[in-house]
Amino acid sequence: MSKRELNYEYCDQLVRDFEDVIKQPILSKSSVYYTGVDLGTACVVLAVLDENYRPVAGAYRYADVVRDGMVVDYIGAIKIVRELKEELEEKLNTELVYGAASIPPGTDGIDSGAVKNVVEAAGFELTNMLDEPTAANNVLKIENGAVVDIGGGTTGISILKDGKVIYVADEATGGTHFSLVVAGAYHMPFKDAELYKRDPKHHKELLPVLKPVVEKIASIINRHIQNHDVKEIYLVGGTCCLGGIEDIIEKGTGIATHKPKNPMFVTPLGIAFSC
Ligand code: ATP
Repeated sequence: MSKRELNYEYCDQLVRDFEDVIKQPILSKSSVYYTGVDLGTACVVLAVLDENYRPVAGAYRYADVVRDGMVVDYIGAIKIVRELKEELEEKLNTELVYGAASIPPGTDGIDSGAVKNVVEAAGFELTNMLDEPTAANNVLKIENGAVVDIGGGTTGISILKDGKVIYVADEATGGTHFSLVVAGAYHMPFKDAELYKRDPKHHKELLPVLKPVVEKIASIINRHIQNHDVKEIYLVGGTCCLGGIEDIIEKGTGIATHKPKNPMFVTPLGIAFSC
């Protein structure tokens, strides 16, 4: 079995475990807990690991507190992170002290302060801040290639060479744009289109409608990787849950493209690993 398949096996198992503990947290006697806080454009996710870095609890909420990677509702963001933290503390019967967070690549000068303040104001001691694709790679453990994180508002690209990040970029195209296209094509309010899009039952029918936006993302990827020797692309982020997105990106870039079974929770788990 190739290293890549092994990575995905590990990643898929980890995400499956995380999905399980979102439904049913594991009460452990861990001496310490590490929480990853993913403050996303569409979704705020908290992932809790125990002292052995195993997922023990998690929670998420769709929210509108971040746009294109920037915190736009500071008070709302603190409230959601605090509420999710309290919910998990009650379930685990412990206090969650240590938290790490991430920001889209390239926005550190602008927004890392806001994200840091949100996480600290919600009651965490912030232990680390890192960019999203780098966080995802804590789980994927890719040595060479590009990790592409297609979230709600943005697409983050991180190029790795011999296990080191050598290039990061972030562009304002993501799942929100997909929902806008669905809203337009189906004459639906945005909120309904967002829900319609997330339902895997609709993915086959939606793929041709969304193909131009996916092709735009492929062209964004091409622009950023053109001066690098990228032979593999690894997709993460909630938008990559769309069935068939990997085929369009592979065709548009001409580069072998892979995605884990559930790309949605890779980044929050990777953030928790960095805690
Ligand atoms: P960003 O990284 O841009 O700040 P985010 O962290 O909120 O955003 P994710 O949580 O990775 O991003 O992904 C959220 C996006 O994934 C949303 O646009 C959402 O509609 C989309 N999404 C979630 N589940 C699915 C699904 N099953 N099918 C299609 N899209 C999905």
